[in-house]
Amino acid sequence: MRRPAADGMQRYERLRQLYRVSQVLHSTLDPQEALQLILREAVRLTRAGTASVVLLNPTTGFLEIEAASGLPAEAAQLRLRPGEGITGWVMRHGRPLRLGRVWEDPRYVMVRPETRSELAVPFEVRGEVRGVINVDSDREEAFTEEDEALLAELAVEAARVIQNTWLCEQLRHKAALFEALTSVSQAVTSVLTLEEVLQVITREACRLMGGRLCALRLVDDTREWLDLKASHGAGPAYLANPRLGVSDSLLGSVLRRRKPLQVADVQNSPHYQRVDVAQCEGLVSLLGVPLMYREEPMGTLSVYTAEAHRFSDEEIRILSSVAAISAIAIEKARLYERLLGVEDQLRRSERLSVLGLLAAEIAHEIRNPLAVMKMLYHSLDLRFPEGDPRGRDAQIMGETMDRLNRIIDRILDMARSAETEHAPVQINRLIEDLALLSRVKLRQQRIDLVLDLDPDVPRLSGDAAQIEQVLLNLTLNAVEAMPDGGTLTVRTRPLRENRAAQGPTHAAVTFRDTGVGMTREQQERLFHVPFSSTKPGGTGLGLAIVARLLEAHAAKVRIVSRPGRGTILRLLFPADRSGEPVP
Ligand code: ADP
Ligand code: MG
Repeated sequence: MRRPAADGMQRYERLRQLYRVSQVLHSTLDPQEALQLILREAVRLTRAGTASVVLLNPTTGFLEIEAASGLPAEAAQLRLRPGEGITGWVMRHGRPLRLGRVWEDPRYVMVRPETRSELAVPFEVRGEVRGVINVDSDREEAFTEEDEALLAELAVEAARVIQNTWLCEQLRHKAALFEALTSVSQAVTSVLTLEEVLQVITREACRLMGGRLCALRLVDDTREWLDLKASHGAGPAYLANPRLGVSDSLLGSVLRRRKPLQVADVQNSPHYQRVDVAQCEGLVSLLGVPLMYREEPMGTLSVYTAEAHRFSDEEIRILSSVAAISAIAIEKARLYERLLGVEDQLRRSERLSVLGLLAAEIAHEIRNPLAVMKMLYHSLDLRFPEGDPRGRDAQIMGETMDRLNRIIDRILDMARSAETEHAPVQINRLIEDLALLSRVKLRQQRIDLVLDLDPDVPRLSGDAAQIEQVLLNLTLNAVEAMPDGGTLTVRTRPLRENRAAQGPTHAAVTFRDTGVGMTREQQERLFHVPFSSTKPGGTGLGLAIVARLLEAHAAKVRIVSRPGRGTILRLLFPADRSGEPVP
């Protein structure tokens, strides 16, 4: 029988040790180390054989051993279903359990055959039972009520350590996610073509979410289908089905409801359409978020994991942020592609206007000889007797010449109606538009565009579309002259023809490139000989048109160029004197 005084001493000693444990605990940051310390103390203070801390894994729903002391390694791998074993019971009921003879209790699950007694106490993290601390012994009836109280105190410490660890990990996870998000947004906004953008989005989202597969779908024009536009990690089975119906698929419902959706296991979901594909590709959990642009859903971004995973609110927010950045990047890329389309259009209109110019020139060249022919024909005064077939032939000749004349007139009419209409033009604004238009192409060709636009440059008088065409032609020529990249400088300056003039009389525009340059002979042919292209795909008509358009604007052009040194083209436009406002 123990004497009360000795008992008191012992109790005091234990409490002192407990106090020391908590002191040490607060000085260590490593959670494993802290839990080990708690368990060592639990073993020592209760004279147990082994001890362990068991936590409920919220993702898998299993009870897992977080830290153990004295347990063989394979026992530390033990996983219990909720409610299973002594630990499961304690976790479920939130009450301690002390068994002096474990084999007599039906709830007991054997981990070590030598175990005779077990003591388990629950602990709470943020008001919820989240774990159990266990000790066991090879002796029967090894644990007292006092041991139970001690273990409960240690459990409080363990809970504190675990809560801190979780907070710490959450913070670390958050920091990592936000860091990754920043790099995603950088990656996504630094590429230009739509295809590249979509590729980068899926790759980065997959990496960020630790997914097995990431897919980006955009809704088609009919808004009935979600078309797969890019994916990362997808195998042939997934790629074989590039379309999903908006009305009848899970991702379609993400689009329709404009809300994120998660599916714990697509292989066992009655709503998932392609269970076979999911099995084949090893897809388990799915998170899908809508891609929204200006309140309108344009598609979906989805991530699949290879193992069961419950996406946290944090992760859903992160993927939604990626989707938001992506939607903007997609719109931006679409805009660029539309601009590229405009460039194509301009090129086509260059061809068309060339054809128009050629037609007019040919018409002009034909009209004079035709007039001569008609005159001579009439002066021949061909008359044949009734019934002579030559009479009919002569009549057809006359009619055909009249028809040709009408065609020529019509062409010349058309050419005249296309003549330059003069209105005030702000050259700087046209150049800025041009810069926007050609940005993609320039960047692709590694050409730096330097704009040096003087705000005091006077307004011109002319046809903005035609001047734009001149500028575009010169830009494209410069680009083509710099196949390995370089610098294109476009400069505008006001000029005063003579001192007497009030204000600038002219606007000077120079295009300077660092390209291949031209020989003297090449320069001489340039504006005068159409079809003098030196490029495989060139028409040699660009500058011929430029010359005509400049002529129509009473503008002059000068070239300074040396082979291998680059080219300077200088345009000189008379300033607008009309005083009309710019349209
Ligand atoms: P194209 O561009 O279709 O060849 P252009 O009339 O625009 O026809 O140009 C005619 C030729 O003038 C080009 O093929 C090229 O040899 C030369 N050229 C025009 N601009 C430049 C430039 N900036 N640098 C070097 N060569 C040029
Ligand atoms: Mg050209």
